[in-house]
Amino acid sequence: MFGARPNFMKTAPLYRAMRAAGGFDPVLVHTGQHFDRAMSDDFITALELPAPDVHLGVGPGSQAWQLAEIIKRMEAVLLEVRPDLTVVVGDVSSTLAAALVSVTLDIPVAHVEAGLRSRDEAMPEERNRMLVDRVSSYLFTPSADAGENLAAEGIPTDRVFHVGNVMIDSLHWVLPRLSLAATRKKMGVGAGRYGVVTLHRPTNVDDPATLGRLIGALAEVAVRLPLFFPLHPRTRRRIDEMDIDLRRMAIRALPPVGYPDFIALLAGASLVLTDSGGVQEEATVLGAPCLTLRDNTERPVTILCGGNELVGRDPERIVAAARRRLAAPRIATARPPLWDGRAAERIVDVLADIPPTTASTAGSSAHGGLDRTSETRVLEETVR
Ligand code: UDP
Repeated sequence: MFGARPNFMKTAPLYRAMRAAGGFDPVLVHTGQHFDRAMSDDFITALELPAPDVHLGVGPGSQAWQLAEIIKRMEAVLLEVRPDLTVVVGDVSSTLAAALVSVTLDIPVAHVEAGLRSRDEAMPEERNRMLVDRVSSYLFTPSADAGENLAAEGIPTDRVFHVGNVMIDSLHWVLPRLSLAATRKKMGVGAGRYGVVTLHRPTNVDDPATLGRLIGALAEVAVRLPLFFPLHPRTRRRIDEMDIDLRRMAIRALPPVGYPDFIALLAGASLVLTDSGGVQEEATVLGAPCLTLRDNTERPVTILCGGNELVGRDPERIVAAARRRLAAPRIATARPPLWDGRAAERIVDVLADIPPTTASTAGSSAHGGLDRTSETRVLEETVR
């Protein structure tokens, strides 16, 4: 199952590992939580994934509405496919909806990227992570802290597998396929140093005063370092509503950038300013100095490794940290254990040992395959 931008990079290595191992018949379900090309289809193409077997076509709406729609539409698909297992990745609404509906149908859930905790339950992603972990039968963790979090919440340890980071599997996959020089040229990046910014967390972009202060801090950093700022659609909407002209501040606003170009930009950056989960991880592995514009992170291992720093939302603190990092020589950062590009293989090794359930053997194929005719029928019924 995938549905939002970060899900594609987490699903692609799993899909490839299942195909390589044989004996799996993965059915790719796209919920449609992110629906425009730049946030969805471009990633499927760049990661060389096939078109989804089923597209639920949910589209925009409130979190509750999206949850309800995904649950309803996914139930029809699961009843038709009867899979042995639902694999969900990350912490978005689609992850929670797919996990909940699977559990109601007695289909076991495997959660990839389990156990991460920011300890900030005001974050929708934190609530999603906790709920999904609670109902999952197989929990695949990217780092040791995640396993400790699950143990502290009473999740039985025999359900938990420390396998490493599938997002970093995709990073390893894409690195040999991209060209730093070609991306620099395409994006109009000059020969000098530059920084990359991403912001999309509601706590940073939904309140105009907070967003205005953050952009003020970025403008100060941009005086010394040109900043490239691919805008998440949510952030673009807010900036347009506030009538902010980023060009006047030496901040280069871009539409969402495709995955290989984005990784190339990060790899060459002298500084990364972000509130993204995945970007903290990618910057850590690429050795790009990273400032996280949040008060907490569910990825503390990126801080332990030395490359990432939590700087909150106070403009003075952000600007001071940026100056300090730019003045310091670039240090070699450590890489968390098992962030080696092979996490998906380890997950598939575990999944291969799970006996098929009666749910799937009662269905159309031993591994829950979906033929095109039944897929069309499911979607027609869903639309009605
Ligand atoms: N990303 C991208 N282009 C962009 C911004 C992000 O390809 O313009 C990629 C990047 O690899 C990142 C991932 O999308 O790790 C997920 O980003 P996002 O910040 O949307 O989600 P989060 O990781 O915070 O859930």
